[in-house]
Amino acid sequence: MKTHTTHTALAYLKGVGPARAELFEKELGIKTIGDLVSFFPNRYIDRTQFYKIGALQETQADVQIVGKITNIITEGELRHSRLKATFTDETGSMELVWFKGIKWIKSALKTQTPYVIFGRINLFKGVFSMAHPEMDLLTEFQKSLQSAMQPVYPSTENLLKKGISNRVVQGIMQNLFLEFKGAFQETLSRELLQTHQLIDKNTALFQLHFPENQSLLAQAEYRMKFEELFYIQLQLLRNNLLRKRKIKSFIFEKVGFFFNEFYEKHLPFDLTEAQKRVLREIRKDMAFGAQMNRLLQGDVGSGKTIVAVLAALIALDNGFQVAIMAPTEILATQHFLSISELLKDMPVQIRLLTGSVKTKDRKIIHEHLENGSLHVLIGTHALIEDKVKFQNLGLVVIDEQHRFGVAQRAKMWQKNHLPPHVLVMTATPIPRTLAMTLYGDLDVSVIDELPPGRKEIKTALRFDSQRLSVFQFLKEEIAKGRQIYIVYPLIEESETLDYKYLMDGYESIIRAFPRPNYQVGIVHGRMKPADKDAEMQLFTAGKTHILVATTVIEVGVNVPNASVMLIENPEKFGLSQLHQLRGRVGRGADQSYCVLLAGTKLTHEAKMRLKTMVETNDGFKIAEVDLKLRGPGNIMGTQQSGILNLKIADIVRDSALLKMARYAAMDILKEDPNLEATKNYPIRITYSDIDLKTGIWANIS
Ligand code: ADP
Ligand code: MG
Repeated sequence: MKTHTTHTALAYLKGVGPARAELFEKELGIKTIGDLVSFFPNRYIDRTQFYKIGALQETQADVQIVGKITNIITEGELRHSRLKATFTDETGSMELVWFKGIKWIKSALKTQTPYVIFGRINLFKGVFSMAHPEMDLLTEFQKSLQSAMQPVYPSTENLLKKGISNRVVQGIMQNLFLEFKGAFQETLSRELLQTHQLIDKNTALFQLHFPENQSLLAQAEYRMKFEELFYIQLQLLRNNLLRKRKIKSFIFEKVGFFFNEFYEKHLPFDLTEAQKRVLREIRKDMAFGAQMNRLLQGDVGSGKTIVAVLAALIALDNGFQVAIMAPTEILATQHFLSISELLKDMPVQIRLLTGSVKTKDRKIIHEHLENGSLHVLIGTHALIEDKVKFQNLGLVVIDEQHRFGVAQRAKMWQKNHLPPHVLVMTATPIPRTLAMTLYGDLDVSVIDELPPGRKEIKTALRFDSQRLSVFQFLKEEIAKGRQIYIVYPLIEESETLDYKYLMDGYESIIRAFPRPNYQVGIVHGRMKPADKDAEMQLFTAGKTHILVATTVIEVGVNVPNASVMLIENPEKFGLSQLHQLRGRVGRGADQSYCVLLAGTKLTHEAKMRLKTMVETNDGFKIAEVDLKLRGPGNIMGTQQSGILNLKIADIVRDSALLKMARYAAMDILKEDPNLEATKNYPIRITYSDIDLKTGIWANIS
């Protein structure tokens, strides 16, 4: 005689009542019985089961193993040292690791003596490890009491204070399952369950809260993770479909004079296969009748500009204007120069609009935009001022999207009766799995191939003690006619200290590279834009040998003759930033170098970052490492995306599952875009339920 549904308020569940219900809502956001059942334990304690090292699986569970320590070593120095022990049973070996209390632990550990260890395992490169395990000598353990596999729920201080201990939560769960066991609706289709060998919802929920053994728990976790990722992907992909149906835009059906003339007569090089593929994707989007909303990812130097130019020419062929936005004045100017150069033999009118354009010139630009005689407008934020009105804006290209808000993007749409097509370009590679979740409702193109003949940038890690020989190397490069960047990090909280650090560095560089043989320039955030520009121009023109800078030169700056990027205290930079900086060199025909001049005190993570930089030039690989090291929370754009609100799946650990879930959602939508088929009934019901809820999926736009 079940009277409750999953929508019933928690207060009506036996053992809860109004006071506890209020606490649950306030502390954990749990309002209904349905919320409670998807309140999952974050770990499990099982002191009756013993596991064999050879049979371990990756789960959230703590495990208990009997074995012996066969080897102990200390790694690293001083504060960064760690103690590692090899722990072995008759089926295999794993690693035990301690970061704290090393001295004491080392002296207490006995080798070749049976221990019972207990804790959470981690799998890395095929080896299981356990950090700070609970350890008992087997002889001691056998004298004590052991209890069965217990779920441990997330809690808060307030809950504990009000007496809602883990045991109480377990009791409430027990009541819930006594009432509901076997009555939870299946939320996936039979087809999905079969294809992906997933256990049913009732079993999965029960096993998550009351696991019988590690294997069933692993299956339960797998099923619930799949479900979570599947519904996120379904929603993102379906939003994309709906947007394409709803948001109409211009149909660029023609490829005519502008494109053909340029492509046949003035294209300075053959396009790479990746560039051709991306161009096809863009052409298809723009000829379709729906608004293009495409993200173009390509590592620095992969040749995104030419793709944008060719897309722009298609817009011109169809009688439309094009806007190209860059985040800074330097970048906008650079785009203006390089695009003007590319199109110099074409009858295309191009202008630059930035904050420093004089009122008089500005007026002319406004006029020509409105009467349609200006074809391509390149600029900064100045482009989205209200005064700027296009006669017929058909395409907007946005370079380095993360510096522009979506609101600003939306604003540009309103300058016309139909929104223009939007192409967003970024050189910050985002790991594919993350992009799927972050930009699942955008279309993503990737240029994953560099133009031919590009020499790989050689990256070296050096230490302060080697500074003299590094400087000697710089002098040799300068003697060959090359130019050099030296970049300083922002390290302190205080701008004044950073500034002092940069200036001290600058002074010492000038001492090491004295005038008149050497010319050293400097750019930093405190300079007036005009002064900054002047310094940049001196460097671009080859009048300064060395440019000392903060990260202001991070994005897009293009000086092909610069062949060395020296980064001071690279350990203070994030990986993607280091990679961006390195991308400033290697733009010409000469061999280029990136020197990481590190301090001596390096954390484990900093070492990993620097090692990765030395090992690879591939921006996507770097992005994957970055994601693993820092977690998704620190990667650009994730904070707003809601992917951090995942209940059970983990975007890093479950990336393979994420791909499966995405393809599953794609297949279903391809066959049944409105989820009307009978076999998809459970999916339709669940999907519409999620749509209404303000739950975990609400912030994904
Ligand atoms: P990014 O993707 O970083 O914006 P750019 O568009 O600035 O890269 O291109 C980097 C350099 O590579 C430019 O000098 C450009 O002219 C050149 N380039 C682009 N595509 C090709 C190609 N297919 N073959 C040879 N050089 C190319
Ligand atoms: Mg670029």
